[in-house]
Amino acid sequence: MATTDSVDPMLEPRPGGRRMPRHRSWAEPFRIKVVEPIHLLGRAERARAMEEAGYNTFLLRSEDVFIDLLTDSGTSAMSDYQWAGMMLGDEAYAGSRNFYHLEDAVRTYYGYRHLVPTHQGRGAEHILSQVLVKAGDHVPGNMYFTTTRLHQELAGGTFHDVIVDEAHDPTSTHPFKGNVDLDKLRRLVDQVGAERVPYVSVAATVNMAGGQPISMENMRAVSEYCRSMGIRVILDATRAVENAYFIKVREPGWSEKSVAEILLQFCSLTDGCTMSGKKDALVNIGGWLAMNDDDLFDEARNMVVVYEGLHTYGGMAGRDMEAMARGIEESVQEDHIRARIGQVEYLGRHLVDEDVPIVLPIGGHAIFLDAKRFYPQIPQGEFPAQTLAAELYMDSGVRSMERGIVSAGRNPKTGDHNYPKLELVRLTLPRRVYTQAHMDVTWESVAELYAKRDEVRGLRMTYEPKYLRFFQARFERI
Ligand SMILES: *Cc1c(COP(=O)(O)O)cnc(C)c1O
Repeated sequence: MATTDSVDPMLEPRPGGRRMPRHRSWAEPFRIKVVEPIHLLGRAERARAMEEAGYNTFLLRSEDVFIDLLTDSGTSAMSDYQWAGMMLGDEAYAGSRNFYHLEDAVRTYYGYRHLVPTHQGRGAEHILSQVLVKAGDHVPGNMYFTTTRLHQELAGGTFHDVIVDEAHDPTSTHPFKGNVDLDKLRRLVDQVGAERVPYVSVAATVNMAGGQPISMENMRAVSEYCRSMGIRVILDATRAVENAYFIKVREPGWSEKSVAEILLQFCSLTDGCTMSGKKDALVNIGGWLAMNDDDLFDEARNMVVVYEGLHTYGGMAGRDMEAMARGIEESVQEDHIRARIGQVEYLGRHLVDEDVPIVLPIGGHAIFLDAKRFYPQIPQGEFPAQTLAAELYMDSGVRSMERGIVSAGRNPKTGDHNYPKLELVRLTLPRRVYTQAHMDVTWESVAELYAKRDEVRGLRMTYEPKYLRFFQARFERI
């Protein structure tokens, strides 16, 4: 008989049980050494806090939040090994030994030759866009990401979504909804000409589609096509480790390979990457730009000095670079990544059991509630996802994030709202921070809101900032 040492507890069905086929329980592969108390405000206080925050969860005070699922960005718990590394920070202005350790980790696990450190992901996006994108260029990608697209646009480019249609359908159970639609990509390149396409921007996993992965097969096809056309492929590697795990469990032929091996293969199909270390790499701050091309490296390394800091720190302290180098090592460990995605799956399965409409398949870093189906009575112009995020906080002190019409912003040419097909609320799980009990409190609250969904009305926007409006916009109840 198999023991839990020799099988993957998440994949092994429970033998002979009378209940529906269930999966074996697993436990977090860590124990807790330091705790940070959290506190649930009373219902009336939560309602007041939400109103004061203009019904925007970004404007809540962290202290007023009980379970914070706003984002997995910079919110992960560091290990004792990472904290120990913090004491080894070499804070020399130039040539810090922690930079060389980080460079080594990126070469070992991601495989790129050159590293340009940045303070976080958008710092890397800024430099890459300024170096590669010229006015009038076109940048295709597998669905937009907020900061990535904005930097492409600020550099004079136009973003084009070339993701497969399934990505826009929250009910499609396609296992790789992050895939690039090669016909869409070819059509765009034929139309504008390869010389106007500085690179294809490929994200893995695709945040805005629900943390959905791209397959190795698709990545290889994109890579072959782009190489034949002389177009670069730039990876948004922010959650590429999570993508590698999905390749391992969902794509035929990869189950015997380690997540680390898969990650390396995957990156080898691209020419460079931007990275927010605040996600996969288990740190609170940090990022990088990496590439193989010597000339591109030269330019990027020069520009980082202008915007971020010297090319051996890029806006990070030496200790931050050390923590990230160690975080990269830990991020590809099998038990870590299995439990990380296992926790997301645990939350998602409970919501599915309660018939709550969520994006399927369950993604890597978050559960996405489908606000269009949750609140069909609220028109998209009255912000159903923004409303649901506010209601969830008021019900249980759980903070989530809108990923719908507010996040999609306005069309820079017409000034109208972009009306995205997906109108979602994201419950994003920080890595190694919450336990399954926190997940239980969360799904119970969502299930209760769903039972009471008919009573809820939408919101009206009362303040709208010009850039990335979802961060600072304010609303009132209709
Ligand atoms: C968070 C994120 C970024 C931007 O990174 P920051 O570190 O927040 O600047 C870019 N792409 C994706 C997919 C992200 O999730």
